[in-house]
Amino acid sequence: MPSDINKPGFGPVNTSQSPHAHWKTLEFKDVSLNEGFWTKKFNVNRKISLRFGFEMLKKAGNFDNLRIASGSIKGNYRGYVFLDSDIYKWLEAVAWEMGKEPDNELSSMADHAIELIAAAQLPNGYINSYVQTRESPQPWTDLDNGHELYCAGHLIQAAVAFCRALGDLRLLNIACRFADHIYSVFGPGKRQEACGHPEIEMALLELYRETGEARYLDLAKFFIDQRGKNIMKGHRSYGPEYHQDHLPVRQVSEAVGHSVRQLYLASGVTDLYMETGEQALIDAMSRLSKDIIETKLYITGGMGARFDGEAFGDPYELPTDQCYCETCAAIASLMWNWRMLLASGEGHFADQMERALYNNILASPALDGQHYFYINPLMLRDAKYLRLSTDLPPSEVFIPDKRPEWHDCACCPPNVMRLFSSFAHYLATRDANGIQIHHFAPADIGYELTPGQFIKLNMMTEYPWQGQIKLRVVETGNSAWTLSIRIPEWSQHPILSINGEIVKELKLGKGYIVLDRVWKAEDIINLELGMEPMFITSNPRIDATRACLAIQRGPIVYCIEDKDQEIKGRLLDIEIEKNQPLITREEDNLLDGVIIIEAKGQFVKSEDWSGRLYRPATFPVKAVTHPVNLFAIPYYTWGNRGIGSMRVWIPEITG
Ligand SMILES: [Zn+2]
Repeated sequence: MPSDINKPGFGPVNTSQSPHAHWKTLEFKDVSLNEGFWTKKFNVNRKISLRFGFEMLKKAGNFDNLRIASGSIKGNYRGYVFLDSDIYKWLEAVAWEMGKEPDNELSSMADHAIELIAAAQLPNGYINSYVQTRESPQPWTDLDNGHELYCAGHLIQAAVAFCRALGDLRLLNIACRFADHIYSVFGPGKRQEACGHPEIEMALLELYRETGEARYLDLAKFFIDQRGKNIMKGHRSYGPEYHQDHLPVRQVSEAVGHSVRQLYLASGVTDLYMETGEQALIDAMSRLSKDIIETKLYITGGMGARFDGEAFGDPYELPTDQCYCETCAAIASLMWNWRMLLASGEGHFADQMERALYNNILASPALDGQHYFYINPLMLRDAKYLRLSTDLPPSEVFIPDKRPEWHDCACCPPNVMRLFSSFAHYLATRDANGIQIHHFAPADIGYELTPGQFIKLNMMTEYPWQGQIKLRVVETGNSAWTLSIRIPEWSQHPILSINGEIVKELKLGKGYIVLDRVWKAEDIINLELGMEPMFITSNPRIDATRACLAIQRGPIVYCIEDKDQEIKGRLLDIEIEKNQPLITREEDNLLDGVIIIEAKGQFVKSEDWSGRLYRPATFPVKAVTHPVNLFAIPYYTWGNRGIGSMRVWIPEITG
């Protein structure tokens, strides 16, 4: 199929025709990022991570698995059953990047991967290299753990990306043939089961949006409706919650089970709502969101308190050291909150995206773009016991001095890559009256509001280091339109001016400043969010962080690392002073340029415990303390100078 069909393309989600979306997504080309915090990261992603990812996929056997499946080489399948999905996520990232700017090297890498996929596809459309390389291949025999539909979902998302970013239909043809095969196997009157790992639901909904084929919408709804039969028993002994089969989706009120599965499913359910408008779906998703925000969310946006089952814990069960906080769970949270934002128009969903993005997701890749955390703990003890991924291969048993290059279960690295490559998609949306700015980065944003009326805005900001956001109207029309700008939850006293005049009574709606007027070219809107560093306390029901403080400045959560402190190796003995000011300092040469924060605190000498762990509370001892300055760095940068002790939550000095 020629790749010369250049139709306008959207980003990963297209709600432009979704009848029940509150806001419509812009086309991918409508937002282009300019020099700033994120473009530095994305250049590393484009120039280093994507090429490195290709080499890792080669090394881990992902491409060979497809070759064995197609019969072009002999050998044994390597790795987990879902290795194809890593290729698909990587391809999706490459598509978004090439959509921004051509790249011959990435293009030939992608061609290579697509040819292998095409060669491995069976005449009936089925493709899964793990199943096809079995001695007697039997598709669809282990839906609970086989990940066949999960892999299909990632193939579909990559295919949609190639279509939207490049007008390249090669993968879409492959994906549609596979989706049609799936439609012939599953559905009313056919097999009535779902995949143990949700993912295909949101992919099929996007395929429906891309192709207009109603059978893909029907199939997505069918898979969503299969949930809650209690027939999937869960990996090991984790129960049906692990596979999201414990309750029909319309009845859920709590986030449980495997966190990535839970959040991918929620994304599909929210997408389905935006197409069908079924109230029970969005009501269930609102209950789920409330449960997470009120009882199961880490300050970093991390989700999943338990290593066992990679799962959500009980309410308020949020340990800082043995937590899971998988990178993919934070990415899934961002994807789901994006869909909730599109469905509802409520800014607090964008707040959740921001929290996950600047903290948990950004903490995964090392600054060099070639090493990734899978699990993102909020504390590392002196003993440096660090879990690196779900199952530790022998090479990862010992604590490394940096993030691992890749993982046996390498779901996270290419997930980071595809999110970074498509980030511009999440900046802004539109409705019939105007434009909404959800996230802040230097960018040009422009589209046709109504036939003949073009809007173009230029956003300038040094976010997340500085709180000033300056929007310049570059192009407008004669009619009034509405500019909505999100006010982040952490911003306590935002000040807004238009052409130098402060707007005294800000019109706020659902977390946004709403500015409705006839704009003129060169109008300047200046928003000052204020970025004073602040201490954060936690709900006392979170026993793990009771009586502790964390530091946050703007959207960025901070941590202290052993190596920056005046007394080394003693993070367990640190306490922090709440009543002294936090001092910020720019460090251009540290960790690719950061703002660090200095706090007052003390070391507590614990020698008087005489080697004991416990004693009567009435024991007459006066604590011996030593005042110190504490130095905090952005949490996302931890572990880039060797891996030592680290903590986000610090006990507060009392008494
Ligand atoms: Zn992952």
